[in-house]
Amino acid sequence: MLFREFSAICEQLEGISGRLEMIDLISRRLPSLSDEELPVFVRFIMGRIFPDWSPQKLGIGPNLLYEGVAYVVGTKKDSVVETINRTGEAGKAVELLLAGKEQTSFFSEDLDLVTVYHEFEKIAGTGGKKSQREKLLVVRKLLANASPLEGRYLARIMLEDLRIGVGEGNIREAVARAFGIDSSIVEHAVQALNDLGHVAQLAKSGESALREVHVSPFRPVKMMLAQQGSIVSAIEENGAIAAEYKYDGSRFQFHRQGGLSRLYSRKLEDVTNALPDVLRILNESTSHDIILDGEVIAIKDGKPLPFQAVLRRFRRKHGISEMQEEVMLTPNVFDILYLDGETLIDLPLSERRKHLETAVISHVAPQLVSNDPAVVGDFYHTALDTGHEGIMIKALASPYTPGMRGKNWLKVKPEVDTLDLAVVGAEWGEGKRAHYFGTFLLACQEEGQLIPLSKVATGFSDEQLAEAYDLLHDKIISQSGKEVRFEPELVFEVGYSELQLSPNYPAGFALRFPRFVRIRDDKDTTEIETLSSIRERYQRQSKS
Ligand code: AMP
Repeated sequence: MLFREFSAICEQLEGISGRLEMIDLISRRLPSLSDEELPVFVRFIMGRIFPDWSPQKLGIGPNLLYEGVAYVVGTKKDSVVETINRTGEAGKAVELLLAGKEQTSFFSEDLDLVTVYHEFEKIAGTGGKKSQREKLLVVRKLLANASPLEGRYLARIMLEDLRIGVGEGNIREAVARAFGIDSSIVEHAVQALNDLGHVAQLAKSGESALREVHVSPFRPVKMMLAQQGSIVSAIEENGAIAAEYKYDGSRFQFHRQGGLSRLYSRKLEDVTNALPDVLRILNESTSHDIILDGEVIAIKDGKPLPFQAVLRRFRRKHGISEMQEEVMLTPNVFDILYLDGETLIDLPLSERRKHLETAVISHVAPQLVSNDPAVVGDFYHTALDTGHEGIMIKALASPYTPGMRGKNWLKVKPEVDTLDLAVVGAEWGEGKRAHYFGTFLLACQEEGQLIPLSKVATGFSDEQLAEAYDLLHDKIISQSGKEVRFEPELVFEVGYSELQLSPNYPAGFALRFPRFVRIRDDKDTTEIETLSSIRERYQRQSKS
């Protein structure tokens, strides 16, 4: 498939708002794609480049892209930024700039979908001192051969924000429809393989290929997630349940095969090198080929330290041995997904727990099984007294469903009025804070779209503002006066005193007295609060 055709499909999809129409259009295109094209098409159309399990990162920030565009159209980077500010978005700006450049089509080659992917692989593979320069050369080459419309989508894919509103659910549905397979089978395969592109390729060869998928070491799967719940209603619904402490640390997935082992963070980044102590403990706890799920906490004088201490260790690239002495990390393992060639995710929790207890000899999180609310209540209070966040309640019959947030895992903790929101913009600070961002614009999500909800300007220490600046300054997409917009990547946890209805923000709500609590860089923007859960909170608040 030519990239020109792909761009035309994107443009068509951009003009459609109906979900069914989108699914129909995509599903009609999939069967004619080759085995090589299918995974690339499917990932690109979701605005992604590499499989979700892959640690590969394109690593092109807005700055590098704008520099590439400036070179190709023969202008200055400032005027690229100015066009983006005018059009409000990088894709349209690149399209406009390419349309305005002199025709050099005599030299240009047709861009092919798979070739574009290989060029991106090249970009992701460059490292070391000269990598920025090498990346820039590839960006320039791609843009030099692109038509204006292709430029629109190349730019957006490079920023991993396609803005055509086709979420993963719609593509899953389109794959199911294209190859006549039940969508629950497609969904299960996506959970195990963590790459809808690969799943589409298998779907083409038939349903049996999809039914036989396995999880495999060194291909991390998404973490199973929890929703809020209560002890009494969980027991009413399930009878006996499993309860564990809710550790306030950072999630990890441990993979081991043939004596090699690696650790992944909640965002599935490879954090092996930052956590040699955790790796050693886990390697001593098991000698099996295995995939484990758990939470790392920091301990000092027998009590857990605040979560921020753990995150600092996850992020660390230098001085790791000194940090190990300062902050001691301990893993708590609570689930097992794979053991010696067998995929375990479809077994009930009670069965997985048996495997876990035989295969791992230490650091397994204690588990209480009970149908008595008083007994579970005591366990909850012990958890709080010993410095944990609360408890997790899990349905004994439930499979491990990667990436899913459902009733099978419930978190029970004291109600706190905080929300995890995406940082989508900011205003530069004033006075001694003029070199940092001072006020941040935050958004919640609904159906894959980010919806602004509040600003936050208080609660920051100077150190936290400096940290936020470090994490955000090369994510600026556009700037107008004192206001900037970011490529949405960072998540803040913010506290508030009350939710209010408000016409000032697209979400229709605003936070009263919003206050920064912490940076949640263990979470990505797909994990932030949804608008519907904020509506529910508002209703609960009105009732109380
Ligand atoms: P939250 O981040 O508030 O949505 O709570 C869910 C998170 O609690 C999970 O993603 C884990 O990182 C963490 N957690 C701590 N202890 C457990 C446990 N025993 N089982 C599952 N998740 C846990």
